[in-house]
Amino acid sequence: MNIKRNILLNPGPSTTTDTVKMAQVVPDICPREEEFANMMKTLRKDLLKVVHASEDKYTSVLFCGSGTINIDVCINSLLPEGKKVLVINNGAYSTRAVEVCQYYGLDYIDLKFKEDERPDLELVEKTLKENPDIALVHTTHNETGTGLLNPIREIGALVHKYGATFTVDTTSTLAMRPIDIEKDNVDFCMASAQKGLMSMTGLSFVIGNKEIIEKSKDYPKRSYYCNLFLQYDFFEKTGEMHFTPPVQTVYATIQALKEYFEEGEEAKWARHTKVFNAIREGALKLGFKEVIKEEWQAGLVTALVYPDDLNWDFMKVHDYCYERGFTIYPGKIATTKTFRLCALGAIDEQDIKDFYVVFEEALRHFNVQIPVKYN
Ligand SMILES: *Cc1c(COP(=O)(O)O)cnc(C)c1O
Repeated sequence: MNIKRNILLNPGPSTTTDTVKMAQVVPDICPREEEFANMMKTLRKDLLKVVHASEDKYTSVLFCGSGTINIDVCINSLLPEGKKVLVINNGAYSTRAVEVCQYYGLDYIDLKFKEDERPDLELVEKTLKENPDIALVHTTHNETGTGLLNPIREIGALVHKYGATFTVDTTSTLAMRPIDIEKDNVDFCMASAQKGLMSMTGLSFVIGNKEIIEKSKDYPKRSYYCNLFLQYDFFEKTGEMHFTPPVQTVYATIQALKEYFEEGEEAKWARHTKVFNAIREGALKLGFKEVIKEEWQAGLVTALVYPDDLNWDFMKVHDYCYERGFTIYPGKIATTKTFRLCALGAIDEQDIKDFYVVFEEALRHFNVQIPVKYN
């Protein structure tokens, strides 16, 4: 079978290998069969290895849904009665966690920082000290809207000093930028199969501390479908997902994990780094400005500021590139007009070189001045 290869430079879903695409084409199976439960059991164990989590202390819990389900699940399930959530918020994805708190009517503190700056750890500590009722702290590892990397290890150390649980949205780093759950002081991390693992959409997972999950059994049940303990408990007792799993995505993800371990953590991160460097070099050569300074970037997403050129029209440039097999993506920053180029997926440096030929051609086609100009 010959499948057209598209280069996705959006922040997920990412470009997949043909072998992962084809892994979905399998005989029909009822997911309540033991054969399928055994597959999920192995998958859950293998996911632990991606973040170096030991089997005795950690577990992974699968959900049918996109990555946001993990944020919903962690926050609504891991807060004891009468306690408070602290969200360390410097971007769109942590804001999503704040909205989860609002929708569930939870007591929360939205500790806001500028989108292009790292959080002030002194202020984080002061907030923890002054609010002993904070039981859950949440932040985002790589703020995918800007590409800023948050210092989770340092934040996690503070969270644990004050006896709280630390959940981190690692959706746009896990299986790309190496994570060590224990060393990074993380109690719960999360991702969806379509990002770092380069699998398909529809399967998401939380990896975290078993003891804390078991303790959460007695916390208020705020959601019927999105409860971490209930899903964990069902898996432990029956080997199955409580409700219907995304069957074909599970097959694809098993293949994707096989390819992940074959490529290797370090080699894969080195490849993403090469791709990312090529993305930045190309953008800077054309004169584009980045939102986040280099030393704060997570090395996977760059947000580029729209040039001050009347001929610049993001959608037109997008369509030109899209027709030629390259997908670029709009920004997610409230204050600045930006677009994003991302280094996720089964792509390499040559794909980026090929992309810039088309991208530069698009700029010339629409008479955008090169190098691009800013007032
Ligand atoms: C992609 C992403 C998510 C999940 O988004 P969905 O649209 O639900 O897949 C969550 N957090 C971060 C940081 C992400 O990059």
